[in-house]
Amino acid sequence: MSVVRAGRVLVVEDEVTLARVVEKYLRKFGLEVSVCHDGADAVEAVRAFTPDVLVLDLGLPGLDGIEVCRRVRTFSDCHVLMLTARDDEVDKVVGLSVGADDYMTKPFSQRELLARVQARLRRIHQLDSAPRAEPTSSDRTVTIGDLVVDRAARQVHVDGEPVPFTRIEFDLLTALAEHPLQVLSRRQLVDMIWNAQWNGDEHLVDVHIGRIRKKLNDPAAAPRFIHTARGVGYRIGDGR
Ligand code: CA
Repeated sequence: MSVVRAGRVLVVEDEVTLARVVEKYLRKFGLEVSVCHDGADAVEAVRAFTPDVLVLDLGLPGLDGIEVCRRVRTFSDCHVLMLTARDDEVDKVVGLSVGADDYMTKPFSQRELLARVQARLRRIHQLDSAPRAEPTSSDRTVTIGDLVVDRAARQVHVDGEPVPFTRIEFDLLTALAEHPLQVLSRRQLVDMIWNAQWNGDEHLVDVHIGRIRKKLNDPAAAPRFIHTARGVGYRIGDGR
């Protein structure tokens, strides 16, 4: 019999009062919450606590949120929701492409934060509880030329070599691969990968696509797999 554990959230926020409010609120909804107040501790806390979702303030003393995210990404694919003090910081962080999955600008509503955390946990839970028994090969993998997406194992191979993907990157690539030759708009992708209530900047999609392209060695100017539908979104496969 399997036991479903509560979602684990690590909150990294140097404003102690805000951290406490968030912690209390998330706990009320049955989540397992751990808190730390500075960046250096945060990296160690991710290792020890292995959160599903990392709520990470950008402005931290010592190691800032960007550096924390960079370091965390070397060993964890937990969902990183970054908190920024101003809207223009979102642009800056998105531009840096450090590997955060989502962003919220302060002040934010606790309810919105909870909604985003829960949406992510539901998605993780769906993936964990998806039947793994003997999928047929065509159900299990999607092949586009030299790109093979193994949905059951959540692995990507390019030219026969395995390529490590974060959860979000894998979900995005899979969404496109499951709709070959069909343009998916940024909004559609946001709805599929994040959730329909998500109201952040859709350019977040571009940032993740950029990271995927780099990993697939698939330059936008001469695409092998992912094609840009200018002003709309993305499509996989060129129809040849
Ligand atoms: Ca701060």
